[in-house]
Amino acid sequence: VAKMEERNALRFYTPKMHADARRRLKLASELRQALQRQEFHLVYQPSVEMKTGRIVAVEALIRWQHPERGLVPPDEFIPIAESLGLIRQIDQWVLQRACEQLRLWDDARLPSLRMAVNVSAGSFSHPDFLASVGQALLASGVSPKRLLVELTESAILRMGEDTERAMLALHNLGVAVAIDDFGTGYSSLAYLKLPAVAYLKIDRSFVTGLPASGNDVAITEAMVAIARSLGLHTIAEGIETESQHEFLLKAGCQEGQGYLYSRPVSPEDIARLLAPRPGASVTKRLSVVPPH
Ligand code: C2E
Ligand code: MG
Ligand code: MG
Ligand code: MG
Repeated sequence: VAKMEERNALRFYTPKMHADARRRLKLASELRQALQRQEFHLVYQPSVEMKTGRIVAVEALIRWQHPERGLVPPDEFIPIAESLGLIRQIDQWVLQRACEQLRLWDDARLPSLRMAVNVSAGSFSHPDFLASVGQALLASGVSPKRLLVELTESAILRMGEDTERAMLALHNLGVAVAIDDFGTGYSSLAYLKLPAVAYLKIDRSFVTGLPASGNDVAITEAMVAIARSLGLHTIAEGIETESQHEFLLKAGCQEGQGYLYSRPVSPEDIARLLAPRPGASVTKRLSVVPPH
């Protein structure tokens, strides 16, 4: 009977769909073990002040080093982790690890950075979320002002009425929220008024067409205008060219991330990017010494 059912069921799927479903199922069981097996690590992408090019923040991005498959991108496993109820554990691990890393850079006397961490809807709206943020801050000694929680518009839509309570709790703790992938989520703009929301991240899909696409120009300018009138800080995502940088700078966007400045890199690479290069500092010092 099982065989017959299986055969019947299979008729509704193409071989490709079947293979995808099997891959997801296998990935799911492996994902359950990935945390204990320490297969996750974080990379960090710098965020630069548009006017000066100075690195002012980093965004922590998770990577899964699978023993056989190699590097699995987050877009592939985060949705599975969300549907399996594993996302809270993962996001909590990321929060802790990212705060610890910020502390290590502080101890190494690097210039002070802000740390942005991506959080899924299921983690953010859970009653224990506040405690796990508090714990990560306490354990690392990082000030809440330096932590930024990134939430996508679609996550906000999914959370519904939990959003306001969770945002307020975070705000009371002193941690700000960034709206990630802004403009892609089909949600209302009402949440922009919430006190915790202090940053708006312009999605890469609008940056890609700059400055040639009239539509992207119009949308980006409108986003910067909304942000400015609400007193929000704007960060553009996915800047890859000089002309995108120039356009966004002129449009009044304050900060940018993208391959033009740096890909997501290891903690050691962040330290190298921020440490004054010995050669450079000598040259600089020499250049201000007046000639005798
Ligand atoms: P996101 O938060 O919007 O992150 C930006 C994504 O764009 C990253 O992909 C980054 O590597 C990529 N990116 C940055 N600059 C450029 C560029 O100039 N060009 C292009 N083509 N891409 C660029 P990544 O690391 O694959 O992450 C994908 C998404 O996965 C993230 O989107 C975020 O939503 C989610 N994610 C990553 N880490 C975590 C995590 O720790 N927890 C949760 N819940 N989600 C995470
Ligand atoms: Mg993000
Ligand atoms: Mg984004
Ligand atoms: Mg994204």
